[in-house]
Amino acid sequence: MRRRTVGVALLAAALTATVAAPAPAAPAGQKPTRAAELLGRQALPANDGWAAEGAGTTGGGAATADRVRVVRTRAELVAALGGDNATNATDATPKIVYVAGTVDGFEGPDGAPLDCADLADPEYSLPAYLAAYDPAVWGRVDPSGPLEAARVRSVANQNRQTQINVGSNTTIVGLRGARLTGLTLMIDRVANVIVRNLGFADARDCFPAWSPTDGDAGNWNSQYDQISVRRSEHVWVDHNTFTDGDNPDSAQPRYFGRPWQVHDGSLDVTHTASLVTASWNRFTGRDKLMLIGSSNTVGPDVGRLKVTVHHNLFDGDLQRLPRVRFGQVDVHENHYRLGGTGFEYALGVGVQSALFAENNFFTLADDVAPADLIHDWGGAALTERGSWVRQGDRPARPVDLLAAYNAAHDPDLGGDAGWTPTLRAAPPLPTPLVPLVVGAWSGAGRLPL
Ligand code: CA
Ligand code: CA
Repeated sequence: MRRRTVGVALLAAALTATVAAPAPAAPAGQKPTRAAELLGRQALPANDGWAAEGAGTTGGGAATADRVRVVRTRAELVAALGGDNATNATDATPKIVYVAGTVDGFEGPDGAPLDCADLADPEYSLPAYLAAYDPAVWGRVDPSGPLEAARVRSVANQNRQTQINVGSNTTIVGLRGARLTGLTLMIDRVANVIVRNLGFADARDCFPAWSPTDGDAGNWNSQYDQISVRRSEHVWVDHNTFTDGDNPDSAQPRYFGRPWQVHDGSLDVTHTASLVTASWNRFTGRDKLMLIGSSNTVGPDVGRLKVTVHHNLFDGDLQRLPRVRFGQVDVHENHYRLGGTGFEYALGVGVQSALFAENNFFTLADDVAPADLIHDWGGAALTERGSWVRQGDRPARPVDLLAAYNAAHDPDLGGDAGWTPTLRAAPPLPTPLVPLVVGAWSGAGRLPL
């Protein structure tokens, strides 16, 4: 009974929100349900993580009738966000966008699907690129010259097509079963954005870059996240599901002996962005999840990159759960199910990072040692407490992850991140309840619609 009571109280807290005036009707024949109207008007609850700081996060809650739309195509999505993808980031008029069905970033202007060849510059071809920059021929230096320039022009083509720019004061809500596939929501130089109840699938890069000095053998890198938050603040990403869809990394070829990586982050927060809450999301089968801070340069990121990550399910993901530089980042009551091929680490402790990890639950395959859940990327300390681990068939138990890390690795990390979060909507649940609650209520399709 105790579990249920706590869980229900928590659900109530998760769903409690400021509700503004009733939503006006969307265009005839595309009317959201009353429940969807209420969801579109909801603000982030008080104290619910860093995005609740100061004036909080209200998204498009104040939208007038003409800026409440239901969209079913890429063209309708761009129209609802302001009309021109090239300038939509500057459209700060409050707006609520409901996504119905699947919106595909690779839909052309006439609705026909585009493929990578449609976006490629005439001077670019992958076979020519592979022939020119094979390290055996070109050496281990960055590609340059006409073919690389053609690749860069191709990337610019893809940016215009699959990078969907979002302005300030925007709420995007998925209706039942809604998905955004093959696109990036780019939240750059804006404020006050809410993204809820959406499936994100396969934000793929047609033109990955070859980075010959990334790692021991070089790497292919994609530049497309599912959501990128840059130079922005007050962003709430809630109850979404992130996958690679039907295009998993495991199905990609290898070139130059390295995996052809067409995917990047699920939710990257970089370039001085701050005041972000990521709650109740489900991230399934992905590699690079959440990069908070993309540069070690001690500069404008200092004092920024404040992110709260709570009640998310990290299911079969490989790394960056999250990886943090500089920011005060509160990671509490998440469920991690990790292990198997390719797993690297969960919590990345980067330069001047201040990670506060509390009451997280780790369900681990036998091939993951608790000592390897933390990775030191040049950081000094983190606060870690209340972690539990269930491994293989053995019973769950509390584990001091930092002590395990320090016993297995040098140099040691300190145990005090130097701050204590105050922006919490509710006291933390006992850790053993976290898998139950997160399993039931994280991801798209759980909010009332
Ligand atoms: Ca990224
Ligand atoms: Ca040690």
